[in-house]
Amino acid sequence: MPELPEVQTIINGLNRIVIAKTISSIIEKRQGTLVFEKGLKICEFGKIKSIERRGKYIIIKTSKDLKLIVHLRMTGKLIFEKDLNNTSSHSRAEIIFSDKTKLIFDDVRTFGKIQIVNSNEIINALQKLGIEPLSDEFNAEYLKNKLKNRKAPIKNVLLDQTVIAGLGNIYVAEILFRAKIHPAIPANKIETVSLKRIVLETKNVMQEAIKHNGTTISDYRSVEDKTGEFQNFLKVYSKKICECGVEIQKIKQAGRSTYFCHKCQNYET
Ligand SMILES: [Zn+2]
Repeated sequence: MPELPEVQTIINGLNRIVIAKTISSIIEKRQGTLVFEKGLKICEFGKIKSIERRGKYIIIKTSKDLKLIVHLRMTGKLIFEKDLNNTSSHSRAEIIFSDKTKLIFDDVRTFGKIQIVNSNEIINALQKLGIEPLSDEFNAEYLKNKLKNRKAPIKNVLLDQTVIAGLGNIYVAEILFRAKIHPAIPANKIETVSLKRIVLETKNVMQEAIKHNGTTISDYRSVEDKTGEFQNFLKVYSKKICECGVEIQKIKQAGRSTYFCHKCQNYET
């Protein structure tokens, strides 16, 4: 599933390729992929004015005050295509530009969506999102406040998008490994000194992963159809042996696989 660094890499690619292009139409290839705001009347889509990220969402703003909010979910991809006659094997929707190029929304598992709304309309899911991990406001104090009443394991709480926006299973495993925190510790039991390590390593991991264009474990690709490189720098996720020589443990937490080293990530808080 694309997490913050993959979504940011996609946005960086979109900003190189499709900014200022005029959208002539948006074609739905699979019913239910496009979700229009109720009562919205569109005469023209306009030019792409800006492309921004919030959590794992891509927000494309146009000169006609429309927002296309793309949520890639499990397997969604945006593929730029220069030839209108070409498509991809799992094309669900296509944004057609006036210069006869297009952006294909390809999604094998079909959980992804593109919401089309008026600029002033507020999206519920976006409103509930927690803090951006790379913002200055994300610090130990913020985390302490958010975690004080949460008895759930720290791993599960870090995945909660209403606490921190953009983290997923791969990066939370790496963050907790680097911060030397056991993933099953109740979130409210973690001391400030450890919270500071979590904050620091969250920022480090996010920045490094963006620098390496994200992580490709299975099907993530950038807009230019390139894989990420951060999979070469993972220390614990999907690994068998830790750099300390001990076997990596794999457990299930809230239905998701958690990887950790019981020697490097001890149970102390
Ligand atoms: Zn270890």
